[in-house]
Amino acid sequence: MTSYVSTRGSETASLREAVLQGMSPRGGLYVPTQIPTFDWPPPEGSVAEWLAPSLFPSLEPDVARRIAQDACDFPFPLVQIDDSSFILELFHGPTHAFKDVGARFMADLVSLFATGSGNEITVLVATSGDTGGAVANAFFGRRGTRVVAVFPLRGVSETQRRQMTTLGDNVEAVAVEGTFDDCQRMVKECFSDPSLSARHGLTSANSINVARLLPQAVYYLEAARRFREPVHFVVPSGNLGNLCAGLIASKGGMPHAGFTAAFNRNHGVADLLQGSSFETRDSIRTLSNAMDVGNPSNLERIQWLYKSDDALRVDVRGDWVSDEDTVRAIASVHRREGYVMDPHTAVAFAVAQRLDAGVTPVVILSTAHPAKFPEVVEDAICESVSMPETILSARQKNELMSVIPPDLGKLKELLDGGRQ
Ligand SMILES: *Cc1c(COP(=O)(O)O)cnc(C)c1O
Repeated sequence: MTSYVSTRGSETASLREAVLQGMSPRGGLYVPTQIPTFDWPPPEGSVAEWLAPSLFPSLEPDVARRIAQDACDFPFPLVQIDDSSFILELFHGPTHAFKDVGARFMADLVSLFATGSGNEITVLVATSGDTGGAVANAFFGRRGTRVVAVFPLRGVSETQRRQMTTLGDNVEAVAVEGTFDDCQRMVKECFSDPSLSARHGLTSANSINVARLLPQAVYYLEAARRFREPVHFVVPSGNLGNLCAGLIASKGGMPHAGFTAAFNRNHGVADLLQGSSFETRDSIRTLSNAMDVGNPSNLERIQWLYKSDDALRVDVRGDWVSDEDTVRAIASVHRREGYVMDPHTAVAFAVAQRLDAGVTPVVILSTAHPAKFPEVVEDAICESVSMPETILSARQKNELMSVIPPDLGKLKELLDGGRQ
């Protein structure tokens, strides 16, 4: 059954092919042949279970619902900050990052497809922060799967690193002496090597994968149904998977009062949304490091969805803030409201402060628990942040990782070397 088509033309794929290939063979991104639509508002009960059969129409509806139930078994609380601003906490999953939602859906789908095929599936993932931990945790211990998480040695926090390096078993951590863009390039090159791909049953778990991308629509719908009027969403953005899922939800029938994509100093897409043309840039290190992306992979999908940049600019605004603004936002919200934000959420919060007063209500997506970035947060609030139990226990465990230069050959050796 054809469910997906490439952004670059006519290549099509079933759900299984799209999930296991990640990208189309000629380098495009898969998009649904038909954007999932739904009647608004959702009924009482789990939005995830209600939406899953339309997100994945090629699955038996019961299977889709069961996967949704397993993948979204944690809440998305909405915290009111002032008259018109709300923070949507997406970090109550096992690794305290919003990426748990997509990663858990994907792990469920991959194990569904791996079951009975008899071949090991290797999830090769480049991560600038939370992806690796979320994916590693979602796949950990699942038979028939291996996770290789590739991250910039100096570009992730200690907690993020430990979520990849302390699991062991079917999870391998590879630290690259380079930037996230180096990691992303090396991983892309592995995927474009057909014999390597075939040998290992390589599959991607980056936000380009439809299995990760589409389920993120769930929490937009969950938030929107709690308001009587349409909501303006502010989304801390890096590779733009999160934003893309919100836009798909809006195309499917969710009422909204627009979106704002919030960036740190890696703001090429903010410039695009403000009227310039887009240029790929080298990524710059910031305090919100999961958003340090110079060439966001989901931009192509978003541009496909809207057909023209002018049409995109009608629904989506873009803005960015510096590290200084980010720290100031963490400090001032803590001082005024006693609420502690992580640096990624703070980027979105600072951007939201600049919206016109008429834009209301505003829902700011909070993508990580503040305890994942204790150095930055504690400096800003001059207090310690309370640590969830899972983060504390990872601190006691031994770390295991390979450190390599940004060299494709070295990564291929590790893949072929397999587990010792
Ligand atoms: C990944 C990540 C982002 C960026 O999300 P995209 O879908 O890549 O735009 C923002 N904040 C945190 C904490 C993240 O881990």
